[in-house]
Order: sequence, then C-alpha cells, then structure tokens
Amino acid sequence: MKVSTIVIVGAGQAGALAAAELRQQGYAGRVVLIGEEAHAPYERPPLSKDVLLQPQTARCAIHGEGFYAEQNIELKLGMAATALDAQARTIALADGETLAFDALLLATGARVRRLPMLDALGENVHTLRTLDDAQRLLPVLQAGKRVLLVGAGVIGLELASSAVDLGAQVTVVEQASRAMARCAPPLLTDHLCNVHRARGVALHLGAPLAAAARENGEIVLTLENGTRLAGDAVIYGIGVEPETTLAQAAGLHVDNGIVIDAQCRTSHAHIYAAGDAASERIEASGHHRRRETWENANRQAQTAARTMLGLAPEAREADWFWTDQCGLNIQFAGDMAAPEWIARGTLDAPPCVLFGLDDDGALVGAITVNQGRDMRSAKALIGKRARIARETLADPAQNLRNLAREFA
Ligand code: ADP
Repeated sequence: MKVSTIVIVGAGQAGALAAAELRQQGYAGRVVLIGEEAHAPYERPPLSKDVLLQPQTARCAIHGEGFYAEQNIELKLGMAATALDAQARTIALADGETLAFDALLLATGARVRRLPMLDALGENVHTLRTLDDAQRLLPVLQAGKRVLLVGAGVIGLELASSAVDLGAQVTVVEQASRAMARCAPPLLTDHLCNVHRARGVALHLGAPLAAAARENGEIVLTLENGTRLAGDAVIYGIGVEPETTLAQAAGLHVDNGIVIDAQCRTSHAHIYAAGDAASERIEASGHHRRRETWENANRQAQTAARTMLGLAPEAREADWFWTDQCGLNIQFAGDMAAPEWIARGTLDAPPCVLFGLDDDGALVGAITVNQGRDMRSAKALIGKRARIARETLADPAQNLRNLAREFA
C-alpha cells in the first residue's frame, strides 16, 4: 500500500500495539500516535492489582522508554484529537494543528460508565480506568479504611481483592443477582463470591442502590431493600462505554462502538478501528460484538495494521481474558455462555479446569484456575470444537496437550 502518513488516535493498548506492528511489518512512512493522557502507553490490567499493591515497583509501560523514538513513531501525549474530517482525511488536534492522513486508526478505547447518584457526592468517590485514577486510589485503599465498592464485575472484584490485601474493610454492592455475570458462568462466579466472603468481604448481590448521601463526613449508601452501608470512600466499576465521539461526528457507522469488519475496516475506506472502541461484525451471525479485553485490543491492533499494509490477518484464536484475585489466576477462553460445564478437579482446591460444552457436546469454552499452562491446549481444542468424552475431560490424568495434539 502506498501510504505516507498513518495517524493513530488513542495511545492505549490497541494504539501502541498498532504503531509497533506497522514498523514490525516494514512500513517506513510517517506514524503519528496521539494520546490524550500524559503517560506513555501503558497496560491497564495491572491498575487494579500491582499498581495498587506494589506502587513503588509496579511496571506497566507497554514499550520501553526509548522505543517510540527508536521506531520513529511520533508520540503526541497529553493531546486530544478534537475533530475528524473523513472526506478531507484530516484530523484536528487540541493544540490547533491539523494532520492530514492517508490512513487513520481510531483506537479511542472506552470511558467509565458514570453513576450520577454517586458522582453527586463529590469527594471520596472514585472510578478506575487510568493510571491517574489508580494513583488516586492509593490513599483510599489503606488498612482500616471502610471502602464501599459498587459493581461486582471484573474491576469491582479485583479491587475488592486488592483492598482486602491492603487491610481495608470492604463492602461490595451489585445490582445483578450474581457477580461477573457479563463474562463468567455461575459455577465460577458463585465460587468466587464465596472466596471473597471468606476473606471478609461483605458482598450484597441483587442489591440495587436506592440512595447515596454524605452524613457526618462519611458516605452512606442505602439499598432498595433498606440496608444502609457506611464507608469512608466509594469506588464504582459498573462497566464502560465505547469512546466514539470523533467517529460519530464524522459520520462513521457507530452502533455500540465503531463498527468494523474482521479486517478492522470501518464504514469509511481510509479509516480503521481497534480495541474497546470497536464493534466487530461476526461473519457467521452478522451481529456486532464489542470486546473489552487486552487480547482483543492486541489482536485487532495487529489486524488493523496489517490491513492497512495489504496483509491478511493472522489466524484467529478463541477469545481470551484473565483475572487475578484472591491469589487465584483465572483464565477464560471461548464461550462463557456454554450451557454445560465439566470440572477437572474442584474449585475449592485449585488447580482446576472447567470445560464448557455446547448443546452438541462440542468444546466451546474453558476456564483455568491456577492452571494457566493448560490454556494454550484448551484454546486449540476450542478452535477445533473438539468432541471429547466427559470422563476424559474430567480426568486430571489425561494430559490436555496430548489431547490437543490428537485434534491438531
Ligand atoms: P467492569 O469492567 O467495570 O468491571 P463489568 O461489565 O465487568 O465492568 O461489570 C460491571 C458490573 O457492575 C456488573 O456486574 C453490573 O451488573 C454492575 N452494575 C451496573 N450498574 C450498576 C449499578 N447501578 N449498581 C450496582 N452495580 C451495577
């Protein structure tokens, strides 16, 4: 492809990886990477864990310090892109500059879904999305502090785990009847809730908030069932919304995310999107799906860069994400809505692997608990929609790698 300037808006996981991939694939033109935050691109998964637990030593930069200069990637930090003209192929920046592009990648990510009832309280109300947010949490998550967490999704539960590790007194409030319902089956989430409770977390499920107030210097949340919960601070994690402002204003097709095809092409010929902001068309169903995982950001970034350069995407693997909480490393691959789950080992005494089967008995999902070494094989088997006897799946003596080889 004869491209001379590629602009990437958004210097998060997807943006930084796409810039690197362009160079990796030999693109020698101009690459401009624009990031609104002041920090060089960093990984978000450590924000709810290491950054809070080991603030002095935690490292989360995606690339080493000299990387962008070495790779001749023009990194513009603390700089917002303010307007996109898709027809003229220009993008305006907050400092007044206008950049012309031959190809544009929108890797604008997502922003925290706001809860006005809590925001209205002002002080001591927090959310977690950015490195700055994480740093603001450090004084909140301290021994003896009473922390109210709203939302028992991945962020909420990881924060609960870190907060307990730091000696805080933790209460979690979740409006749905179970935790992490968006991304994990009940078998796992029920167990996880028990683990949190055993660590001292007061967990209120199926408990919508009715009111929030500040009383005598403390925050008081009232649940719809009348329960009153007092704390020194509240942190909420109730999901994110794709950042699509630029795309929408420029007339791109947006539907809960910037709509892209499997090659990360948007509805405009020279514009691509990747990461949390993008909603990818699933070829089989024609539906769109937005994913908020680290792995998805990396994969789409790579795909977008390759498409810009006329290269085919790499072979696709099962979706994958992980969480670390309560001393457990839990990895998830494939379809978490599988109707049947077979356990290898027991969740009470990890390592344990859960295998998800569809209605035809094909392997469509897997969850490893302190058994990440099985993930690669599990993903390969999911890719093949392997049909394996339930006894074999449940038997720890059956090496998963050998099974994966059989189906290769
Ligand atoms: P995150 O990445 O922020 O953890 P998830 O989608 O994984 O996002 O989880 C968000 C959680 O917040 C879900 O369990 C959802 O049911 C819960 N939630 C959403 N809105 C509210 C609310 N108003 N009060 C309490 N919990 C909420």
